[in-house]
Amino acid sequence: MSKRMVILGGGESGVGSAILAKQKGYEVFLSDKGTFKEKYRTQLVENKIEFEEGKHTEEKILNATEVIKSPGIPDKAELIVKLKEKHIPVISEIEFAGRYTSAKTICITGSNGKTTTTMLTYHILKKAGYNVGLAGNVGKSFALQVATEHFDYYVLELSSFQLDGMFDFRADVSVLLNITPDHLDRYDNKFENYVASKFRVVQNQTSQDSFVYNADDEVMREYMRTWKSPVHLVPFSIKKPIDGEGAFLTENQITINYKPNQNPLIMTIEQLALQGKHNVYNSMAASLATRIVDVRKESIKESLQDFQGIEHRLEFVASINGVEFINDSKATNINSTWYALESMQKPIVWICGGQDKGNDYNELTELVGQKVKAIICLGKNNKKIISAFKDTVELIVDTDNAHDAVAAAYKIGKTGDVVLLSPACASFDLYENYEDRGMQFKAAVRSL
Ligand code: ADP
Repeated sequence: MSKRMVILGGGESGVGSAILAKQKGYEVFLSDKGTFKEKYRTQLVENKIEFEEGKHTEEKILNATEVIKSPGIPDKAELIVKLKEKHIPVISEIEFAGRYTSAKTICITGSNGKTTTTMLTYHILKKAGYNVGLAGNVGKSFALQVATEHFDYYVLELSSFQLDGMFDFRADVSVLLNITPDHLDRYDNKFENYVASKFRVVQNQTSQDSFVYNADDEVMREYMRTWKSPVHLVPFSIKKPIDGEGAFLTENQITINYKPNQNPLIMTIEQLALQGKHNVYNSMAASLATRIVDVRKESIKESLQDFQGIEHRLEFVASINGVEFINDSKATNINSTWYALESMQKPIVWICGGQDKGNDYNELTELVGQKVKAIICLGKNNKKIISAFKDTVELIVDTDNAHDAVAAAYKIGKTGDVVLLSPACASFDLYENYEDRGMQFKAAVRSL
């Protein structure tokens, strides 16, 4: 009897999984409660894959041998609970595709900085001439690439939701950037569950594999006190020198030390293409990960210098009459906004707000007090932000669209100021997603 693979969710990862499963001889069925994008529907039809949209027909799902679930579907969804009751394994696309490739994988996770570090790592490998693919949360799905390409290496950006569906997958190099509270609604509001989920990136790693991690992160340090893993540890820190293998910052110089019998890679933070403390971490992590797979030091150095930033992450938009505009729409939590504010060298007109995820704005008060001259709220309901900062910042403006927000910011901004969109909130109150918010912000700036 052929094995039946049921795939829940018809986005990039679901459709890629369906194509790979079909190629590997599974009987495949894809089900999505919503509707597909046209591009995906076409791919399914072309590949003769049976699918349904707008519903989940249980008789066609509960008879699966195995199920691949989109990371967007919570474990508590009724259908997932039923599958688990029937002991049908529910896995993620990464777990599935990982079975069919012998390429080396560099897997990057953390609460913030995943995409930046993933893109930077990919850039370093690509420029060094490696036959490398980029997958996970970015670009084409891992499964589709495993089905259609022949890469020797993959850089994978992994969210905790993807990690939750990974069991036997083993990374050659895992990278854990930081852990701060996020998505707790999906983890029974227990931070320890989210922490454990992030550490799944290391599961199954052996002494032949490496774990690149942030030695400054209190949460990770605490977890690792009682944690046992044979994996080779490669720490990075901006607070203290690291003995042996690892990366660290002294004054303005970073030292990347891998293979202690060789000279370290040394450069100054001014030479890095990506500025800001958070990006020192990201640059260190990407350098270590690529040193581990033997990229030459000079090549890494060059790539760290010529990397072009990524859209919506501290992206420079324009300078108008001496007022600089920066789009950091991807900053959807407090921690990422903290780093954005921290990295600004000029007085800030700060555009923030959106859909609140249970934010504690106290964590920003000190920085805001030092650096922010005015706040422009951009959200459907801005009461929480207004009351959080009314004693810290004199000027707070309430807006609910990008056009008004940018106009207000421009009116307040003087030559030498920076207008920073770094919302600390999700975008779904007013926008389709953070990209949409960032695009509308940029359009408003360009039409000033
Ligand atoms: P992710 O993919 O984890 O969401 P991104 O690279 O897309 O991370 O960056 C998201 C936001 O977090 C950006 O606004 C960026 O400025 C900020 N950020 C990037 N790297 C870090 C880091 N190492 N620590 C904290 N914040 C970061």
